Amino acid sequence: MRLFTTIAGLRCYLERHRSGKDVGLVPTMGALHPGHLSLIERARQENAIVIVSIFVNPLQFAPTEDFQRYPRQLEEDRKLCEEVGVDAIFAPTAIELYGKSPLNSDSGIQFTQVVPPGAMTSVLCGASRPGHFQGVATIVTKLLNLVQPERAYFGQKDAQQLAIIRRLVDDLNLPVTIVPCPIVRLESGLAWSSRNKYLTEVQKDRASIIYSALKEAQKVFQAGNRDAVGWRCHSTVIIEAVKSKLIKASDIEVEYIELVHPTTLAPLEQVEQDGLLAIAVRFGTTRLIDNMVLQNRQPIVAIDGPAGAGKSTVTRRVAQELGLIYLDTGAMYRALTWRVMSANIDIDDEPAIAEIVSQSEISLVESNDGVQVWIDEEEVTKEIRSLEVTANVSAIAALATVRRELVKQQQRWGAKGGIVAEGRDIGTFVFPDAELKIFLTASVEERARRRWQDIKEQKQGDMSLEQLEKDIQQRDLRDSTRAIAPLRKAGDAIEIKTDGMSISEVTERIVNLYHQKGFS
Ligand code: AMP
Repeated sequence: MRLFTTIAGLRCYLERHRSGKDVGLVPTMGALHPGHLSLIERARQENAIVIVSIFVNPLQFAPTEDFQRYPRQLEEDRKLCEEVGVDAIFAPTAIELYGKSPLNSDSGIQFTQVVPPGAMTSVLCGASRPGHFQGVATIVTKLLNLVQPERAYFGQKDAQQLAIIRRLVDDLNLPVTIVPCPIVRLESGLAWSSRNKYLTEVQKDRASIIYSALKEAQKVFQAGNRDAVGWRCHSTVIIEAVKSKLIKASDIEVEYIELVHPTTLAPLEQVEQDGLLAIAVRFGTTRLIDNMVLQNRQPIVAIDGPAGAGKSTVTRRVAQELGLIYLDTGAMYRALTWRVMSANIDIDDEPAIAEIVSQSEISLVESNDGVQVWIDEEEVTKEIRSLEVTANVSAIAALATVRRELVKQQQRWGAKGGIVAEGRDIGTFVFPDAELKIFLTASVEERARRRWQDIKEQKQGDMSLEQLEKDIQQRDLRDSTRAIAPLRKAGDAIEIKTDGMSISEVTERIVNLYHQKGFS
């Protein structure tokens, strides 16, 4: 592992090592804890090169805040990064990043800054920390420009920061994917934070009441929505649930408890689809923040697994049994392929494909004869099964630009919920917050045997079992190491090994798991 303190060193390292490899960036202020490590581990899984920046950014601290006192422990951080397989740490000084111009002087700040929309920076934490998110936006933009990563990892713990950075990346068209990562908590429920170091053990114990209060509000929210269909719990009821719990802790002073839209941060009276319940408290001199996303959508079931494990048949059956929509990703790729073919675009002309695909809108519409596939006002249910589409769909689906667009469209569907989807990275990437994640697999021998049976029944030729096993092994390796949408099992996925199980048995197992989670 390398450690760089200068821009020159970092740039030179990236120039020499990058050559087409994916780079993941994890920006931090150091004093690393399991929350940071979860981001780094995720980055490690998804990128060939992982850079962690460690920089306590003076620009995001007000003069009255804890900039001087903020924990700094580069040597310990270095060891932790080494253990989790980081390739390089970037730990510059403030002078290296901002030059010698004074950061807070009467003459004002003498360098270019990034100013996100006021409506996002002046609310929640921004109300008591003016200038904070401008400082965050500026440093994050600088780091993204310096590292130019394919992906950058941010914790949901700082939900306002995450929303502002996503907005900034969209507004400035920065070529990076922002990957949000779930909050990591101590066993007590307290969210990990570098500032927990300011707390005594007793205070840490007491601070777990913040999470209990959020959970209490979640219960109220869920119960309200369940009891009366179409009824929406009012924000005051949700906020009151948090308050009434926290009132018992006289040493905790609430700075704010608010229910806002997770993307725009605009205040919500009710949660239509998603709501961010955010809280900041003061515990003596320590300021702590936490949050929870309240979801008012139907559940999502994500089914991932290797090729030949029976995913598509099972997914269709599960959707049918649960009365959910089968989000047929294959049909979506086929629809885009049809669109490209019907526009007479050369399959090697990726920029032209990018143009057309980014303007196309796919919809899957339930009808009496099954699901209809539409693209841009045209119904193409039959057309997408043509030989021409079949012959070209894998080449088109392998293009990064097509995949990006499709994920966007899938996630738009996901916002409404009530879907079952299958693939290789549905639970890890497309719908990381799916309520039920299944990893459907079967031994190589079993999958080869099934395939062999199929070939025999459909009289598709002659293929030895041995050859099929070899093919499947190679396909598994290709799928789990491919740059775009690699096969991965989500940490919270339930693995079902289908050796010796019939399709009905597998379907029943998943349907039962869905009910066991409390969904009907
Ligand atoms: P910081 O060092 O506090 O600036 O945090 C660096 C990154 O780690 C930010 O994206 C934070 O949201 C994220 N992070 C901090 N604490 C946690 C946590 N408990 N769980 C998940 N991510 C976290």
